[in-house]
Amino acid sequence: MRVAFLGMGIMGRSMATNLVKAGHEVAIWNRSGGKDVEGARSAGSPADAAQGAEVVWMCLSDTKAVESVLFGPGGVEPVLAAGMIIADSSTISPSATLHFAERVKARGVDYVDAPMTGSKIAAAAGSLIFMVGGDEAVLARLQPLFQAMGKQVFRMGETSKGQATKLVMNLQIALIYEGFAEALTLAAKLGVDVEKLVPLIQASMVRSGVVDYKAPFILKRDFSPNFPLRLMLKDIRLALDAAKESRVRLPGLEAVEEVYDVAAEEGQQDLDYAATLTLLEKWAGVEVKGK
Ligand code: NAP
Repeated sequence: MRVAFLGMGIMGRSMATNLVKAGHEVAIWNRSGGKDVEGARSAGSPADAAQGAEVVWMCLSDTKAVESVLFGPGGVEPVLAAGMIIADSSTISPSATLHFAERVKARGVDYVDAPMTGSKIAAAAGSLIFMVGGDEAVLARLQPLFQAMGKQVFRMGETSKGQATKLVMNLQIALIYEGFAEALTLAAKLGVDVEKLVPLIQASMVRSGVVDYKAPFILKRDFSPNFPLRLMLKDIRLALDAAKESRVRLPGLEAVEEVYDVAAEEGQQDLDYAATLTLLEKWAGVEVKGK
């Protein structure tokens, strides 16, 4: 298929690379330069990339970035043609997603929200899991692209339900990781060997994919970004906004937001969100160490 891929960040660049590998004709665009993908055309603007494409796929930081790439200067709106599909793998506001979808529908364009889970490693391996909102018939047309980038697609309902689902998924990751990080901090302070604690966690009902993914990085003290803290904080705020709009209270997530706020203030925003552990360590006067 002819695909315009917009956003060559940690996730987008690997996703576009996998589309090229699967034989699709890909044009890429990134706000800042120097992010080429072998076998793809590098376009000068989102509109340039989208000209003549069957599908415009986005993977951008936040709601504002998506709005500007769609409707801002150089954005795709003027080159949209009936029959095109816009797919968005960014994690953004569900209510804004509905507005964007309505606006492009006026031009005969379908909109699918397709946020994903799996992080940097799954993006590179083509094993992402997508949670999707949109018409079944439109999703069927996107199957070859989902297949090239991921291993599973869950249709959660109509447009915006993918984004709503993604927020409730990341709410859980943030809370599970916070639980793990607090447990490690207390364990270290009480003199428990964390190298022994991790296998115990994973052998018991406490086990989690979050611990599987994060423990090896933590034990090596590697906080380089797989999923940057600033993006997890954005998702925590999106979930709290959605909760406020729908009159739901999330006291646990509110407490975790405060930890992320302080971590961001202390300059950790571009590290992995696992670095929130270092704040707990600082408060406790202890360091969690592997051997
Ligand atoms: P990233 O590495 O920070 O990349 C963000 C991308 O958005 C870059 O291409 C950046 O361009 C672009 N961008 C930011 N603001 C923009 C603007 N105003 N106009 C145009 N482009 C703009 O982020 P990522 O890790 O790839 O994540 C992308 C999305 O996927 C986010 O919504 C994130 O929450 C979600 N996500 C990430 C993960 C993960 O593990 N990393 C997993 C699941 C979902 P520049 O290069 O010019 O800055």
